[in-house]
Amino acid sequence: MVPVTANPTDPTQSEAIAATMRRYWGYDQFRPLQMEAIEAALAQQDSLVVLPTGGGKSLCYAVPPVVAGRTDVVVSPLIALMKDQVDGLQACGYPAAAIHSGLTEAERQVIDQGIRNREYRLLFVAPERLLNPWFMARAKWMNVQAFAIDEAHCISHWGHDFRPEYRRLSEIKTAFPQAAIHAYTATATDRVRQDIIDQLGLQQPRVLVGRFDRPNLVYRIVPKRDVEEQALEVVRRHPREAVIMYCISRADTERLAEALRRRGVKAAAYHAGLDAATRSKTQDAFAAERLDVVVATVAFGMGIDRSNVRCVIHAALPKSVEQYQQETGRAGRDGLEAECVLLYSPDDARRWESLLTRPAPDTTISPENLEAQLGLLEDMQEFASSHECRHAGLSGYFGQPYEGANCKACDICLDETNRPEDGTETARLVLSCVKAMGAPFGLSYLVEVLRGGHTRQIQERCHTTLPQFGALRAMAKETLQPIVHQLVQQGLLSRTMGDRPVVMLTPAAGAVLSGQRTVALVIPRAAAVAPERAGRGGLSGPEADLFERLRELRRMVAQERSVPPFVIFGDGTLQELARLRPAGLREFAMVRGVGERKLADLGPRFVAEIAAFSKERALAAGAPARPPAPGGAKQLAYAMFDRGESLLAVAAETGRALGTVGQYLEDYIGERNPATLAPWVGDAVYRRVQAAAAEAGGTYLRPVFDALGGDVSYEDIRIVMRHAGMR
Ligand code: ADP
Repeated sequence: MVPVTANPTDPTQSEAIAATMRRYWGYDQFRPLQMEAIEAALAQQDSLVVLPTGGGKSLCYAVPPVVAGRTDVVVSPLIALMKDQVDGLQACGYPAAAIHSGLTEAERQVIDQGIRNREYRLLFVAPERLLNPWFMARAKWMNVQAFAIDEAHCISHWGHDFRPEYRRLSEIKTAFPQAAIHAYTATATDRVRQDIIDQLGLQQPRVLVGRFDRPNLVYRIVPKRDVEEQALEVVRRHPREAVIMYCISRADTERLAEALRRRGVKAAAYHAGLDAATRSKTQDAFAAERLDVVVATVAFGMGIDRSNVRCVIHAALPKSVEQYQQETGRAGRDGLEAECVLLYSPDDARRWESLLTRPAPDTTISPENLEAQLGLLEDMQEFASSHECRHAGLSGYFGQPYEGANCKACDICLDETNRPEDGTETARLVLSCVKAMGAPFGLSYLVEVLRGGHTRQIQERCHTTLPQFGALRAMAKETLQPIVHQLVQQGLLSRTMGDRPVVMLTPAAGAVLSGQRTVALVIPRAAAVAPERAGRGGLSGPEADLFERLRELRRMVAQERSVPPFVIFGDGTLQELARLRPAGLREFAMVRGVGERKLADLGPRFVAEIAAFSKERALAAGAPARPPAPGGAKQLAYAMFDRGESLLAVAAETGRALGTVGQYLEDYIGERNPATLAPWVGDAVYRRVQAAAAEAGGTYLRPVFDALGGDVSYEDIRIVMRHAGMR
């Protein structure tokens, strides 16, 4: 995170950006590359911004038109997505509207009037509407300076969501030669990126590519035994939280959803075979938090905007690492911890193979494409059976080296797998079996022989007579298959590519067979581990109870307004509220995620709820239930101010309310006279307050507040005046 006042190449502009972020969203830090993307948009430079899901792309195109005082156009592929985005912006008091086929004539006219009044800062439009004569005329009249293309990978054949309507977006550059185009996507591959640049005709674009690692996701890959039991076990780790479970087939989704419902979980199936009404009912119930678990095929994808999905379960292997990354990426978009569990069985890879090699009657797949798809499947299997850090594996797959030795957020680094010291004996048995079979066979066949399977082929080939036949009978297939994959990864076996891959010994295997080399293997644990969870963002006791109460209030408010709950406040904001228990609006305003509109609109109700809770539990209002810091809260606060820490951090650490901490800061400034207020107030704000206070004379805050048009808070004015010796 970068403070919004950092890198002030243009201090006035930086301050305007910071003020916009605070005013509408209550955020005071940039996520990586947001600042660069906003600067490119303000400089009218074409750009391609690649950030992972949850990276905060929408802020990148929402801030510039406010700062520049103009209306920008956003092209977005789905009505549901557009609606959620506009709802979210409007809840922050941000003027935005969406134009799509779902509008009534009356609604369209209201928006048209708004356009003519230049009311909006953002106009969302579906690609097919953008180029119709009515919208083109309006866009020309508005003299649109910038187009943001959301989900820009939809323009590319090579992406996973190709939409023919996106192809026509290449006409924007011709129709609006003076306008800049900013493309946004989360798709990681080079080919898609280049395609976006070419198709949109971006000119010398600023290409900003973020890191794909999602540190808040905890990855676990466990051998699949009993999918129903294991899925239930994981779901139970997330009571009343949002979970998405992915399956291969429609029948699987129905079966698993039914199994979960029988056990009292609010679950529903979602797949392309359901009628549109059922699908949208499920999607709406999930967004409105009336439904906890959606058991789905790949059809449940784009358009899931719920930011607090706490867990994604893969009940079966996805068919590529790209797909895995996309689907797990739907967890934890709010930046809080979320879990991704893959129940791995190599049999699922066989299922995909047969679906790919025997496609449905009305589909065709070229030999090259088949080869490519099988290659991707192979990569996925390798990833699933690997025993290196999952974060490192994923980053590496997308061409970004992972920094850091232990991610502390995957089953490997959390040490949840068994690591026998020596796997040499097992390795020798596997390798000698390959040798003894004489000719190369497939991996599954090899495993069958080692486990002593009595299939027709094994008998016909007389492999029952081999000394290795049944030698690893005690090992489950789910354990043995990953071991063979590890031998491939360690270069002791090689596996051919193509339709029917076979395994063969490599020269390196000789040293193991002759006893000159040892082999270390990792045996996956058979049972799905049930890790200790930190709970709701580390909340426990009354804080956790208050969080639930605030969630309930959020759900109620959302229902009254017919918007999804995440539009009201994110989970992160509710957690902070539960922890800090602001006693009044002043403290409420300082919580991350509370902008001006939400403060006025929602503050009183949330503050009242918090007060009621505090009273019921006999907790001192606004004072978090934490023991006062040893040595005195004020002393600790001063030490933290010396290090430039934020008010919020100090409040959390000292267990004092934000208002109190604000007072500490004022005293600190008076007593210690720090050289700069940079950690708490931006340079430009400092200068504006100083000028306005000098103009107003006296020590009162109100005239300064009014002179600044109400866009600098009383807290900021108070501390600047104190620092400048004006109070
Ligand atoms: P993306 O479109 O890249 O998937 P979003 O724009 O939906 O991501 O942002 C994900 C979440 O993160 C939203 O709730 C958004 O309000 C929040 N967010 C974005 N930028 C910031 C920021 N600088 N500080 C805190 N939260 C942010």
